[in-house]
Amino acid sequence: MAHYDLAVIGAGIHGAAVANAAATRGHKVVVLEQYPEAACGTSSKSSKLIHGGLRYLESGQFRLVRECLVERRRLLEEQPDLVALAPFHIPVFRHGRRSAWVIAAGLGLYTLLGGGGFRRIARKDWSGLDGLTTHGLTAVFRYWDAQTDDKRLTERIIGNAESRGARVCYGATFTSARCAAAGCNIVFETADGTDSVSADAIVNAAGPWANRVLQAISPAVSSLDIELVQGTHIIVPGTLQRGIYYLESPLDQRAVFVMPWQGNTMIGTTETPYSGDPAGVTPLETEIEYLLQTRNHYFEKPIARADVIDCFAGLRVLPTRGGDPFHRSRDTLLHRDAHLPNLVTIYGGKLTSHHATAMRVIRQLGLSRPKPVLTVTDTSN
Ligand SMILES: Cc1cc2nc3c(=O)[nH]c(=O)nc-3n(C[C@H](O)[C@H](O)[C@H](O)COP(=O)(O)OP(=O)(O)OC[C@H]3O[C@@H](n4cnc5c(N)ncnc54)[C@H](O)[C@@H]3O)c2cc1C
Repeated sequence: MAHYDLAVIGAGIHGAAVANAAATRGHKVVVLEQYPEAACGTSSKSSKLIHGGLRYLESGQFRLVRECLVERRRLLEEQPDLVALAPFHIPVFRHGRRSAWVIAAGLGLYTLLGGGGFRRIARKDWSGLDGLTTHGLTAVFRYWDAQTDDKRLTERIIGNAESRGARVCYGATFTSARCAAAGCNIVFETADGTDSVSADAIVNAAGPWANRVLQAISPAVSSLDIELVQGTHIIVPGTLQRGIYYLESPLDQRAVFVMPWQGNTMIGTTETPYSGDPAGVTPLETEIEYLLQTRNHYFEKPIARADVIDCFAGLRVLPTRGGDPFHRSRDTLLHRDAHLPNLVTIYGGKLTSHHATAMRVIRQLGLSRPKPVLTVTDTSN
């Protein structure tokens, strides 16, 4: 049976980043992914933003915003072909929940944390804003964040891990592991039947499947109480010339983005509690209607249900803490059972902060230093 320093379950952005971070340091890594390619779970269903998360300032998540802005800068430098700055517009309306000075104060703080500045758009330029309604409009702010292609970013990182020696097994479904302090025997299913590997440590990066993975580990390990919350996006025809619009749904005051995406427009997202098999998540008609209503509230030319070209849904993993999902922390949670410290589970988190999360994970497992290269010295003469 092949033996590894680290086995990673899941080839989403977190599994890819952990595998890459460990392989870069010379550790022997295997990744098990149930689907035939990377990023088939949440990591291809996100809003595709590399951002600090302006709205998290309202709930005091300053550390998360700061970390994400640092990561944004790193990604802009390291992946310039996949991560690009985009102008974001926040329109302020007479009867909106936040006044212009509250938005300006938030953007000022965002700038201080590393956001990169903002400005107020002159009234004479409002007519150039992609048909945004000017009825009741009192101000429009422009600031900068970044957009990416989440699937391609994940594929890039898992590809980097492979080029550094990681073995990535697609169509390999983890089914069980028997663990001890010294390591784990891991069993997985492929099209060819049952296979197994052993590893000193496991990272459970199974996203919405994380607790299902933990249930298959023996002896039994603790897990965190989580909720799955689905987020839907729709794609409609027509592109936006000026960038991204950051809107507040008139239905429940949640943030909804209207963004240019591959020659069309992407609108999202929603937050609908989900129970059931993560593989079965699919956009609901009520979510599609909600997104259309929100978009049509702000733009002069309405879009009808029949215009929707495509839609997709992904699952957020949020800690069960009561309250509505929109106001719950988006921070990544790392969980270790006291009896099995060589198993780390990643819950939730952001696409943006995948690298910082991966570094925390490998530090917890003692893999953050380069693996010493053993050289055999010939002393026979
Ligand atoms: C609607 C929505 C919008 C978002 N927008 C943004 C955004 O704009 N910016 C941002 O920074 N973050 C965003 N996020 C958060 C971000 O997308 C997620 O935190 C991130 O993609 C999670 O990645 P992951 O690797 O943990 O999980 P996943 O991408 O779900 O990967 C888990 C992988 O594990 C595999 N797996 C599961 N079980 C097994 C098994 N038994 N055997 C083998 N493989 C298994 C799955 O197939 C999957 O590939 C958004 C999230 C959602 C839901």
